[in-house]
Amino acid sequence: MPVPDPTQAERARVAARIRACRRCPRLVAWREDGDRGLPVPGFGDPAATVFLLGLATAAPGNPTGRPFTANRSADFLVAALHRAGLADQPRSEHAGDGLRLSGAWMASAVRCPPPGHRPLAAERDACLQHLRDEWHALPHLRAVLALGAFAWDAALRAADVDPRPRFTHGARVATPDGPVLLASYHPSPQNTNTNLLTAAMFDTVLGRACAEGRYAPPTTSEEST
Ligand code: SF4
Repeated sequence: MPVPDPTQAERARVAARIRACRRCPRLVAWREDGDRGLPVPGFGDPAATVFLLGLATAAPGNPTGRPFTANRSADFLVAALHRAGLADQPRSEHAGDGLRLSGAWMASAVRCPPPGHRPLAAERDACLQHLRDEWHALPHLRAVLALGAFAWDAALRAADVDPRPRFTHGARVATPDGPVLLASYHPSPQNTNTNLLTAAMFDTVLGRACAEGRYAPPTTSEEST
């Protein structure tokens, strides 16, 4: 008989708060003016030890209700997760594509799609509580891999790290009571097309995050929120 997961209800509450959130007037106006959908909660395995943190929800992916879906950053990231054994397929195309993560969770620092994919610092700060809430609702979380400088800054702030180390690819900060924070270049086409970030580089830093998370083969079922 399956063992009840006491954190499942908490993850559902966090996801509901994110979807209903209206803290950022500029983003609420923008998403509603263009019918760009609701804020997007994280997605993945409730037993995740590794948390992939992106910049902000991408507008074309927003109607899917899932982060890192239907764009080239998602193609790069999910292919890497698949190589690492964290995803059961190499592509993230739409919410019904059957993607399942094992040992991983992915989310954006800013859950609403911002104009020009450029969120403001105030919007990052307003969204930090959602990030903290998701971390706390993942009881096995050990490592956060921040994708890009913006996500790195958000992760440091969410973990109350002070002073905050500058972003560098491969940066690592251990927090006293929370997950280890690691940094990677963002898997955007701008970075991957220029080889600032290669698949081999990303596999290495993802491997470090998995090692920090003491990742083991999956034992639980996928959950999407
Ligand atoms: S960006 Fe975050 S804090 Fe701001 S309205 Fe969207 S979900 Fe709420």
